[in-house]
Amino acid sequence: MINVCFNCGQYHADKIIDPEGPYAICPACGYKHAFRQLPLLMLAGASGVGKSTVGWHLAGRVKEAIVLDADILWRPEFNKPEDIRINRWLQESGGEIEPRIALLNTTGVAVEQTARQVALWISECIKD
Ligand SMILES: [Zn+2]
Repeated sequence: MINVCFNCGQYHADKIIDPEGPYAICPACGYKHAFRQLPLLMLAGASGVGKSTVGWHLAGRVKEAIVLDADILWRPEFNKPEDIRINRWLQESGGEIEPRIALLNTTGVAVEQTARQVALWISECIKD
């Protein structure tokens, strides 16, 4: 876990990031360790459309990104659709951001085909 210092063992979520490594620097003892800093790309969509399943199929296929299931970040206090910040951000800024937002209609499409499309999208996002 990046928040636990390998040197002093203290938990700090406020590590200082040195982009030269990149390194995460412990604010308590100054110990720095290297880590992989990769772009954050998100698969979004309505509940039940297959985001987690596609993510599972991407594991090991995509080398340019780490695949995480967003459910690990879900907390009960965010379970208010009108308060979900990502939805507001997508509505307000989705058309202006890079990398582009790609919409996939997965209706009737095999998971493997969707996973290939998403892997291609990730590759295109990374090479720009
Ligand atoms: Zn430390």
